[in-house]
Amino acid sequence: MNVQGKVAFVTGGGSGIGAAISQTLDKAGATVIIFDLNEDGRMVADTLQQESLFVQGNVADQKDIKRAVQSAVEKFGRIDILINNAGIFRDQKLMKMSEEEWDLVLDVNLKGAFLTIKEIAPIMKGNQYGKIVNISSVSHKGNFGQANYSASKAGLASLTNTAALELAPEVTVNSIAPGSIDTPLFQSMDEKGKEKFIKKIPMKRVGNPEEIAQTVLFYASDASSYVTGTLLEVDGGLTTGLNLR
Ligand code: NAD
Repeated sequence: MNVQGKVAFVTGGGSGIGAAISQTLDKAGATVIIFDLNEDGRMVADTLQQESLFVQGNVADQKDIKRAVQSAVEKFGRIDILINNAGIFRDQKLMKMSEEEWDLVLDVNLKGAFLTIKEIAPIMKGNQYGKIVNISSVSHKGNFGQANYSASKAGLASLTNTAALELAPEVTVNSIAPGSIDTPLFQSMDEKGKEKFIKKIPMKRVGNPEEIAQTVLFYASDASSYVTGTLLEVDGGLTTGLNLR
């Protein structure tokens, strides 16, 4: 699975799963553009072996996306791979959730992906080549306290299917639904909470960011040349069937 000579645009590439995706694509030969709200993304871009670019901006702001895509195309001439990874959560029970919490999560997680696809898909269609990977979540099925986040991730899975239909045959569009991944968020849980959670996972451990990055590499490379409009659960079996013991 290589992406030698390809140009990849990774949103939220400055931390956690996005940083692992950027590093994995870089090692597999791609030039990576990291787009992130947080200036720390520059440090991740600096660790990459191939030529790279960091652009600071908000994925929910069309002007920022346009500026970033323009810089990427000016510097590297094209974009072959788009990874929609930037995501946030503001958990709250439905009846207590504010309109602001709803809007913010939907704007970043769902509108952000719409805006990047809208901007980058014409470039890919023009070059008759493109690979888009959207990072959804197992929460797309619905999850307690995550009305906003779950809806955004279900929306992203659905957007994947529509984009796959509209952008075929030149561009493939797929999504990945990670389970619980060992990022600073999981580490911040207390030991008892972590233990309880891990018991629910058939594989008895959380995943690591590199395990998500490897599945991204599959979708971003020509190893997946006949795969489009799919959703792959990468969750150690967490969502496979009922576990009513
Ligand atoms: P993270 O917080 O470590 O990284 C997210 C990155 O996105 C950060 O660098 C952040 O600055 C950036 N970002 C946030 N809002 C942005 C915006 N408006 N514009 C541009 N960049 C923005 O999170 P993570 O755990 O690595 O999660 C990455 C993706 O994976 C998210 O979409 C998340 O929903 C999804 N996911 C994570 C897990 C998990 O267990 N960690 C599970 C399922 C899905």
